Amino acid sequence: MHGWGHFSLRLTIRQNIEQILEQGPTSAQELASALLLTRQEVEDHLVHLQRSLKRRLVMEPACCLGCGYVFDRRSRLDAPGRWPQCRGQRIDGPWFRVKGE
Ligand SMILES: [Zn+2]
Repeated sequence: MHGWGHFSLRLTIRQNIEQILEQGPTSAQELASALLLTRQEVEDHLVHLQRSLKRRLVMEPACCLGCGYVFDRRSRLDAPGRWPQCRGQRIDGPWFRVKGE
């Protein structure tokens, strides 16, 4: 393993994220809890991972827990803020995973 120098710190977090996502679909919130980061920090890392991993990073779209609506036309990595059709219902996801080579 690398040490915790200035430059390896971010790399190491991304490697951690990549390893977690290789195990199966995980939401940004779950990653944030596991790695003691904010959700915003996780989303920033995911944007960079999306660039470096290209098609290996797969996003499974968020859905509304009220009606099951799937936000499958959304390409942004963060969670949709609200869904007018089911106001007040919880939106879960999106989830991310990394495909094998
Ligand atoms: Zn709904």
